[in-house]
Amino acid sequence: MLKGSCLCKDIEFQFPNAEGDYVYCHCLSCRKASGAAFGANISVPIETFEILKGEASLKVFESSPGKMRHFCNRCGSPLFTLVGRNPAFARVRLGSIDSEFLQLPAAHIFMSQKALWDNPEVEIPSFTEWPEIDTVSIRGSHQPIT
Ligand SMILES: [Zn+2]
Ligand SMILES: [Zn+2]
Repeated sequence: MLKGSCLCKDIEFQFPNAEGDYVYCHCLSCRKASGAAFGANISVPIETFEILKGEASLKVFESSPGKMRHFCNRCGSPLFTLVGRNPAFARVRLGSIDSEFLQLPAAHIFMSQKALWDNPEVEIPSFTEWPEIDTVSIRGSHQPIT
């Protein structure tokens, strides 16, 4: 079983596996709904998707007709979306998964709507944890000052 939860851990859910590909979607609504450069959602067959706890903390926002976005009413974490009256799949936010999930993304989509500051095609440095502050300076964060 793969397990997921919100940031405050009030809500936990599980499912055996995802189906099909997943993508990094750079469209405006994925950016707004995630607060990030792109959305990453996996498709979980609805009959195998199980809320383990915290159902009372789930809040729903209908972002367009029939598109029900579920999030935690305490910590605000977006968790999954159900589309339509009898959805076959829960669209689960990959960032909420706690288990090891090994599938890699298949594509970037909606690059026509990506933010100007977002350029996944350009290589930038990566660090295992915090970079040295004189290399990369992340103001207002917990970055250690050395
Ligand atoms: Zn929460
Ligand atoms: Zn999108």
